[in-house]
Order: sequence, then structure tokens, then C-alpha cells
Amino acid sequence: MSKIHNEVLLANREYASSFDKGGLAMPPARQFAILTCMDARLDPAKYAGLAEGDAHVIRNAGGRASDDAIRSLVISYKLLGTKEWFVIHHTDCGMETFTNDIMSDLLASSLKTASVDASGWHDSGDGPGSTDGKYINWLTIKNQAESVLEDVKRIKAHSLVPSYIPVYGYVYDVKTGRLLEVPEATAAGQAS
Ligand SMILES: [Zn+2]
Repeated sequence: MSKIHNEVLLANREYASSFDKGGLAMPPARQFAILTCMDARLDPAKYAGLAEGDAHVIRNAGGRASDDAIRSLVISYKLLGTKEWFVIHHTDCGMETFTNDIMSDLLASSLKTASVDASGWHDSGDGPGSTDGKYINWLTIKNQAESVLEDVKRIKAHSLVPSYIPVYGYVYDVKTGRLLEVPEATAAGQAS
């Protein structure tokens, strides 16, 4: 067993030894959802004050309103009763460091982990790679405020999302731990 594999199982044993949350209901008690980035520096439970059972947290690379994120949000309100949603991207996001072309070129070169330096991303070239990366929209980000606005608008405009759900737009600052509102996004996400 790898070191990490072992550590996770040990941590779980510790968690379960004093576990007392077995009676929670499935629907989030505080009736809201957060869509945010998978970045390891973000801990939504801490930055938004969540306990087990409080809220849905949907995470992907960038916290983007991908089709699958929208699938989860629709389930979140339609079957599990959430009434307000947050879209939270963050400063220093990895999704700002590449484009669709860069990603597909790296993947075409090899399936090894690429490296990055001041001049950009580099691949080991130790192939084989795959050209399948060309057919994926990686939903990269040029500007956080713009990506939050774009995603709030996309969610609000979706045919399966009811107009009464407000969507709030924020950027989490990885240097300070603060949530910074994107006012245009929250305005675009108003309930009606
Ligand atoms: Zn990120």
C-alpha cells in the first residue's frame, strides 16, 4: 500500500472513531450549494463555515459551470431543495496558466505530468501521448471576474434552472482567505 493510501485509511479510522453524524438527512440543512474549484488550497467547509450536512459543494477544475456542474446543481434544487447558489473561483487558479491548444499539445506529446516555468508549460515528450485532448473544451480562465460572470450568466440562462434561485459570484483570495464579491456577477444572478 502506498504511503498516501495508508495515511488516508488511518485518517478515516480516526474520523470514524468519534463519528456522530450518522443521523443527518440527505437534503442540505442550510439549503444552498457552492460551485468552486478543486484547487487543494481551497477548503469550502472552512472558508464558508460548513459542517457535515449543511450544503452541497460541487467542485471541478476552475469551479466552472460545465454541463456536469449544471447537472449537479439541477439535482441540488430539484430533488434536494437548495434555494441559493454560489459560484466561487479563486486567485492564482491553475486554469489561467494554459489554453485548450497548450493542453492538447501537452497531451499529444505524452501522458506524463508536464512541468511549468516562467516560459510556460513543457512536456517530457516521453510518449506515447494522445490527440484526444483536442476534443475537450478545458474551460480555461483568462480573468477570474469574467469567468465568474460568465458562469453565473450561463447557470441563470439554463432552461432547467428556475429564475427564483439567486446565484452569487465571488473570487476567493488564496493569499488572504477572503471571498471577494464580483458585483456584476451577483447582479446577473439575482432571483426574479
Ligand atoms: Zn483553481
